[in-house]
Amino acid sequence: MISQMKIEQSDIQLIIDKVMERLDNINVDTNSSDRIGVFDDPIEAIKAAKKAQKKLFRFTLQQKKDITDSIRKELLEHVEEFAVEAVKETGMGRIEDKIEKNKAALSQTPGVEDLRAGVFTGDAGLTLLEMSPFGVIGAITPSTNPTETVINNSIGMICAGNSVVFSPHPGAYKITNRTVELINKAIQKAGGPANLVVTIDNPSMEKADVVLSHPDINMLVATGGPGVVKSVLSSGKKAIGAGAGNPPVVVDHTADIEKAVDDIIMGASFDNNLPCTSEKEALVLDDVFEYFMFCMKDHQKTYVVEDKKIIEDIRKLVILENGNPNKNFTGKYASYILDKVGIQVDDSVRLIVMETDFDHDFVQEELMMPILPIVRVANRKEALEKAILVEHGNRHTAICHSKDIDFLSAMAKEIQTTIFVKNAPSFAGIGIGGEGYTTFTIAGPTGEGLTSASSFTRKRRCTLVEGFNIK
Ligand code: NAD
Repeated sequence: MISQMKIEQSDIQLIIDKVMERLDNINVDTNSSDRIGVFDDPIEAIKAAKKAQKKLFRFTLQQKKDITDSIRKELLEHVEEFAVEAVKETGMGRIEDKIEKNKAALSQTPGVEDLRAGVFTGDAGLTLLEMSPFGVIGAITPSTNPTETVINNSIGMICAGNSVVFSPHPGAYKITNRTVELINKAIQKAGGPANLVVTIDNPSMEKADVVLSHPDINMLVATGGPGVVKSVLSSGKKAIGAGAGNPPVVVDHTADIEKAVDDIIMGASFDNNLPCTSEKEALVLDDVFEYFMFCMKDHQKTYVVEDKKIIEDIRKLVILENGNPNKNFTGKYASYILDKVGIQVDDSVRLIVMETDFDHDFVQEELMMPILPIVRVANRKEALEKAILVEHGNRHTAICHSKDIDFLSAMAKEIQTTIFVKNAPSFAGIGIGGEGYTTFTIAGPTGEGLTSASSFTRKRRCTLVEGFNIK
């Protein structure tokens, strides 16, 4: 005999939810395409990311760690592909350096351990300060570090409990979106929800605007130039802005000049000067200027231009009439640029070097090309004043080569940059050859600094009165 069962409305809803969840997973499991997480319509992308974040919210820290460990492991097999395809698509950068950048993003981006709770205990009891997710984050990514930024942002944002909708740079969207697909596969392999990390296909400013203004996007993170930082800061939402830099490197008379020259060449030519942290101009004290230039000239990795006419020819080539850098030369090889002014060198030459005035375009503009202008300064006071001026208030990165702790400390304090590197190439400041973790979103304007999982959280307080104070 079949007994009659009474089904409540709430039970029906529960059954529907369960069935929908199953269907979701079936869709995921049978999706043999590589295009998981890639949406043409930004609204569909946001909807999917919102659903995924609701699932992630119930995940334990260990599960989030498992998901991001899977990303780190699975994507490591693709770093060469990321580097080759990014150079092919953008026409910028050096493959071997991009491999290093991707490896650093995968292995040195902080995980769940970054979410440290705070606590107050006393006569009134115990209060916890916890870091909770924002929800769905809209993240705008650059063309200069496309895959590195997606890897780095994804790991930090997921560990913090968020999902993310990427708005990729139109000039780098194919490799950016391929990275997102691989991240989704790795997430699912570790039992994570589908579409935790999504991206927009065929990106445009209109589609980026949808992400910036959509009510289901709870936080914005912009990694790029001044335009994009301004647009997220005027969105009315909580925003992290990681903007442009123009890092000066100062060399004083106490520095180990040969080492300084080596370090500056490696930093300024890293990925053909694309990183926002790379040395963009050098200010060298008069006392050691001649020897510094001698070492530069003597170095196999540089081409020092002394002829003023050739310096002007290069200027006309890489600076547009309106004074802006010509993007056709951004991230190109030194050999490519020199060839255009009739000088042939091979790709072992990493950097073009010349002496210029402080007012020269090469000094004042953020070129992002393997061209390093060297400015002669009379003393440390002038070096520091000019370094502060040329940093243009970006609060980004500065470098100094000196053996004098007092001068290093004075410059570090006065210049107010987010990163200050002493006696090393600039990339030591993002954990490549220096202590500390790696990030590709360095938030000077909004002050989060070198972003990590905790940057993508809301701070919340949880109070228990008259309990658990065991003093
Ligand atoms: P970009 O500013 O040209 O583009 C960045 C992204 O913003 C792209 O996706 C672009 O389509 C989008 N965008 C531009 N203007 C926008 C607007 N008004 N609204 C919405 N989206 C907009 O960046 P790029 O040329 O690829 O990168 C180079 C710049 O980024 C340099 O200035 C570099 O210093 C800076 N950068 C900074 C960091 C950092 O961590 N601080 C990291 C990488 C690059």
